[in-house]
Amino acid sequence: MNILLSEKKLLHQILVEDYWGPNKHDLIRVLVKHFYGEGLKRKSVKEEVENVIIQKMDTYNPLVWDAILNKYLKRLEKADHRLYSVDEIIITQDELASIRAIEHEEYEKVAFALLVHAKIQNSINPDNHNWMNSKTTDIIRDSKLNLKAQEKKLIFHVLMKRGLIESSKSMTNTNFKVLFIHNESEKGVVIKDFRNYVYEYIRAKGGTNIMECQQCELLIIKNKNIQKYCTDCARVIKREKNRLWKQEKWVQ
Ligand SMILES: [Zn+2]
Repeated sequence: MNILLSEKKLLHQILVEDYWGPNKHDLIRVLVKHFYGEGLKRKSVKEEVENVIIQKMDTYNPLVWDAILNKYLKRLEKADHRLYSVDEIIITQDELASIRAIEHEEYEKVAFALLVHAKIQNSINPDNHNWMNSKTTDIIRDSKLNLKAQEKKLIFHVLMKRGLIESSKSMTNTNFKVLFIHNESEKGVVIKDFRNYVYEYIRAKGGTNIMECQQCELLIIKNKNIQKYCTDCARVIKREKNRLWKQEKWVQ
């Protein structure tokens, strides 16, 4: 998931947890909103944000940051300064039925990822009206598919032909409007964890090969019957077991 889900959490991470993430736009936007929200004027907001950047970076190059900072200082001066947080996304029964009717698992996964992205963007911006503004590469990555460029194009084309999405080409990228959103229908799946969320769809569809990691609750595809953990947790647990084993051996 390449969308920032919680500006509130990011602000906390920056100011309290000593975090500094890779996405300059998210970092600057959150800080600018925060300091405007404190009632500061534009010049003071700029100084405060620069102070944070200097603290966070060993080498601060104003050339890299100034253009982005000035853009958000201007854009957000008169805007809403509340920080958003998307905690859950509800997928309804009608929406699940529309996806299931595609009857092609790869396309279904892509449709589900498009739906989740559009719903997140609706939640962040009430004027979004079901548009999906993420990159198609992000959608394919979230769908957990490994496809060639030609196949990717075909999927979006098929979904358009079936009337599930429509496209609007701008100069910079292709946006899709998701046409099968029915918020009023009964609740189907609630997504709270956006790692591997496409497996929520497979599980809702009745897929029995999806399991939760017993350590971190990540949804994963079950490869073996005895499997308990995701790859990352399994590695950490194995390392820890080895360490304990060596320690015991040494003590004896
Ligand atoms: Zn895990």
